[in-house]
Amino acid sequence: MTKGMNETDSGRNDLPKQEQSGSGLQSKMIPIPDDGSKSYIGHNRLQDKRALITGGDSGIGRSVAIAYAHEGADVVLNYLPEEESDAQDVKESVNKLGRRILLVPGDLREESFSQELVAHAVSFFGDFDILVLVAGKQHAVFNIEDLSTDQLVDTYTTNVFSIIWLIKAALPHLNENGSIITTSSVQAKKPLPYLVDYASTKAAIRNITESLAKQLAPRHIRVNCVAPGPIWTPLQIAGGQPQEKIPELGKNTAMGRPGQPVEVAGAYVYLASADATYVTGETVYVTGG
Ligand code: NAD
Ligand code: MG
Repeated sequence: MTKGMNETDSGRNDLPKQEQSGSGLQSKMIPIPDDGSKSYIGHNRLQDKRALITGGDSGIGRSVAIAYAHEGADVVLNYLPEEESDAQDVKESVNKLGRRILLVPGDLREESFSQELVAHAVSFFGDFDILVLVAGKQHAVFNIEDLSTDQLVDTYTTNVFSIIWLIKAALPHLNENGSIITTSSVQAKKPLPYLVDYASTKAAIRNITESLAKQLAPRHIRVNCVAPGPIWTPLQIAGGQPQEKIPELGKNTAMGRPGQPVEVAGAYVYLASADATYVTGETVYVTGG
């Protein structure tokens, strides 16, 4: 559970415009997002569980890794090699909490890498309990004429194909009563005009979650989804939003502010925990209303 998150720095003041190239680094954001290393309070809800988490260096995936460690789990993190410094910060936070962590950089757009990633996880902690699929790409394009085939393929490969490849690779190593958690978005239901490719991948992810939940229930694996609203993460400032929208982020929610990554982590904890043993095929929305 989190504390003191009713009002954040980013809620009181406009977020400053800022742009980073590539996937962006959390350590260079102003203000630095709250990853829960100090604010999240664990209750041993995932004691000695083992979780493989993608997109775990920054943003939502990072807050999930840190919350899982607070809850007593060990983690394997995947991220892109260019994000090594953010991943090292997560390693430090997880180690401070007395839990084990393995960093496995690599590009999920390569199908063969899914097998490698799972092999690294299995040699680190054996078969595991939780697969959290957070990695994703979002790049704003205002006119369909400017949406290149390269970007279209890239967004679909990163957001959709990679989760199928990784689930296929992980299944032989997921323990009975295991949990798979995907990451959709409020964009799946209410797409912005400039996120045509991204928003449609997020709708596909919800749909995949529901069909796999039915397919894997007889194998005692649950499959659920978290759909965040506007959260203050590197994705937003590395091309995910046009610059003029950054000070506006989250202002159109009922709560009138963007969320912090730590405020999404609890949904991923719940879906992986013993509290959710009768929950599958569901999407938990964390959107600020
Ligand atoms: P983020 O940039 O911190 O996380 C995205 C991560 O995806 C990156 O850190 C990177 O490690 C990983 N990634 C991207 N391409 C990859 C590739 N080819 N191979 C391996 N890893 C790759 O941003 P975030 O906002 O925390 O995004 C996490 C997830 O949350 C994404 O799926 C995003 O669509 C989703 N989401 C975010 C928001 C938001 O407002 N920030 C809202 C709804 C959904
Ligand atoms: Mg990152």
